[in-house]
Amino acid sequence: MLAGFAYVDKSGWGIIAQRPIEKIMDELDVQLTNVVLESLPLLVLILAAILIASRYITAPLKALASQANSMHQHDAEHSILAIKSWYFEVQELKRAILSGLGVLNNKINQLNIDTNTDPLTGLYNRRSLEQILEEWWNIKKSFAVIALDIDYFKIINDMHGHDVGDEVLKELSNIMQNNSGKNSIIFRIGGEEFLILLPLTKLSTAHRFADNLRSTIAQNEMPVVDHITVSLGISYWDSNSNDTIKMAIKKADIALYQAKSQGRNCSIVHR
Ligand code: GH3
Ligand code: MG
Ligand code: MG
Repeated sequence: MLAGFAYVDKSGWGIIAQRPIEKIMDELDVQLTNVVLESLPLLVLILAAILIASRYITAPLKALASQANSMHQHDAEHSILAIKSWYFEVQELKRAILSGLGVLNNKINQLNIDTNTDPLTGLYNRRSLEQILEEWWNIKKSFAVIALDIDYFKIINDMHGHDVGDEVLKELSNIMQNNSGKNSIIFRIGGEEFLILLPLTKLSTAHRFADNLRSTIAQNEMPVVDHITVSLGISYWDSNSNDTIKMAIKKADIALYQAKSQGRNCSIVHR
């Protein structure tokens, strides 16, 4: 039994009320069950809302994480930009990832330039030459090749010093770049030895180009040394022939040596 007691002042009576515990507990059970049953739909609704909201909140984070894992792909920047960032933290995260990606791309680009070009002249180096030749071999792209070598460059170095020699190399590179068409690719493959590739260019056209270049170089005023001359050898790689590309380069080299032995400051075609 549960009992309650109250004293009534006016009458001087004490009142005691009592009920069996089971009865009270039964009523409480019913009430509790009613409360649970009535609040259950609301509870389910709240849970569903939390679930949907959490998915909505984590979706951009998941997308960012997945893109951060595939940053090596070339369109990574566009994919990250396309992620909808509707709240501040994701916007900041996205901005940080994009800025990191930008820095990374710049470094990679600079590294690519550094590994493929010659630091003194900015021209392509031998590594680039090998890559391009392999590519043209694979796609069977015919081309003319010009080997160019400065005449008596050792004397320039001996007379004026190595620094002046370097300046001459730089100036010569500028002349070559300024006088070559946009299709021609110029390489510095050794100290004072250069190679020019002219894709899909006939031997006669390449010869004309080489001789014009030779004459432009001979007329150009150089720093300190006034004038220099160059010798050139020209050959052609026909993709339909049985020749390897190496043979075509060798032929340009042979023609260059002929130009040297014929007195220099001239261009010779290997036939
Ligand atoms: P030839 O007309 O037969 O080509 O004679 P050359 O003196 O030009 O030829 P040689 O191969 O005997 O000399 C090339 C010189 O180029 C030797 C070397 O001192 C110089 N050289 C090579 N690389 C560089 C460089 O990066 N800077 C400078 N200043 N000189 C270089
Ligand atoms: Mg030389
Ligand atoms: Mg040489």
